[in-house]
Amino acid sequence: KDLFQSPDYFRIDDLLTPEHLMVRDAVRQWVKKEISPIIEDACQQATFPSQIIPGLGELGCFGPTIPQEYGGGGMDHIAYGLMMQELERGDSGIRSTASVQGSLVMYPIYTFGSEEQKKKYLPKLATGEWMGCFGLTEPDFGSNPSGMVTHFKEDGDHVILNGAKMWISNAPFARIAVVWAKDEAGIIKGVIVERGMEGFTTPETKGKWSLRASATGELVFDNVKVPKENILPNVKGLKGPLSCLSSARYGIAWGVIGAAMDCYDTALRYAKEREQFGRPIGGFQLTQKKLAEMITEITKAQLMNWRLGVLKNEGKATPAQISMAKRNSCAVATQIARDARQILGGMGITGEFPVMRHMMNLESVITYEGTHEIHLLITGQDITGLDAFH
Ligand code: FAD
Repeated sequence: KDLFQSPDYFRIDDLLTPEHLMVRDAVRQWVKKEISPIIEDACQQATFPSQIIPGLGELGCFGPTIPQEYGGGGMDHIAYGLMMQELERGDSGIRSTASVQGSLVMYPIYTFGSEEQKKKYLPKLATGEWMGCFGLTEPDFGSNPSGMVTHFKEDGDHVILNGAKMWISNAPFARIAVVWAKDEAGIIKGVIVERGMEGFTTPETKGKWSLRASATGELVFDNVKVPKENILPNVKGLKGPLSCLSSARYGIAWGVIGAAMDCYDTALRYAKEREQFGRPIGGFQLTQKKLAEMITEITKAQLMNWRLGVLKNEGKATPAQISMAKRNSCAVATQIARDARQILGGMGITGEFPVMRHMMNLESVITYEGTHEIHLLITGQDITGLDAFH
């Protein structure tokens, strides 16, 4: 009963099934119990709260749309979106961990892996017994991953992997890494690298002011000998990693609206209680403008996400539509967090309230999985047929 009530100005709950609402409320309950009490401290200490991993697995947050025979949740995309929304209302770093595990590690193994790979990895990833990470970005190739230099060459029944990946979420503690690298012909392939393989290290990236409860690191490959059976057999080229990103970006479009809801809810309560000049600051027009615009943007994004979820369930969502939703949600959530922080005045910069934490987290989310600029260029290309990237 005392659960967070999400803003629902256009009665979007009426569009959801009882199962959707059940999944959402289960994750909401869990976030309240397991995340809210510890997250501020974890961020202040810049540590990933690894004790939450089994709980995330039990809730079905790792691979919600992967079929149950492989340990996944077998749920639809709206349920997946709602889960990400609730996790990110807790913290973007926690949602990032789930996104990486489900969309960037389990999804490629499920979609492009052999039956042996699926059976070996998916059930353990679904419970969180094994955690994974996704290595695409390199020090010199971020927005332009096709230029990657990480590569492997054949050596009998193994390949020898060399190169480095940067900014990799979950890297410091991951048991496996899905790494995108070029073969001798320059074709991008997915390789499953396991911790413990000689020459494979994962140094942690320190000093972040954003996503402090998420562990980020590098993947360094120094002549790593990987069995050929660890190559994902059913994909080649950039469409492999890009299809994983489409799945994760879809979750982000929902997720950041969870963070935005938390900022809006916090700012609205504060504005009604805090008095200046003898009246609540929520009574001033300038405060109302901020709050009214927040709820308008949240509502527009909720509708876009819901419709995108329906299209995804029908197999009709395009990567460009997902780009538009990811970009829109991140932009409005970032603005909502900044406005909420203003409404809270000085209190807005403290850890007493979640707003500044969300605001700083969202600066990463608007950049990773395709930057704000890159997603605009994807829309531009989609509507004009002209590529403005190069
Ligand atoms: P750059 O590509 O150097 O871009 C810098 C700026 O130039 C941006 O504003 C960009 O929009 C702009 N720009 C670039 N090209 C163009 C163009 N053609 N036209 C207009 N503007 C352009 N990567 C992974 O592979 N796995 C992960 O798990 C992962 N986790 C991450 C976690 C965090 C906390 C962060 C910050 C990043 C993570 N990333 C991960 C990397 C992320 O995806 C990249 O940071 C992102 O793709 C941008 O690349 P870049 O940082 O190299 O920026």
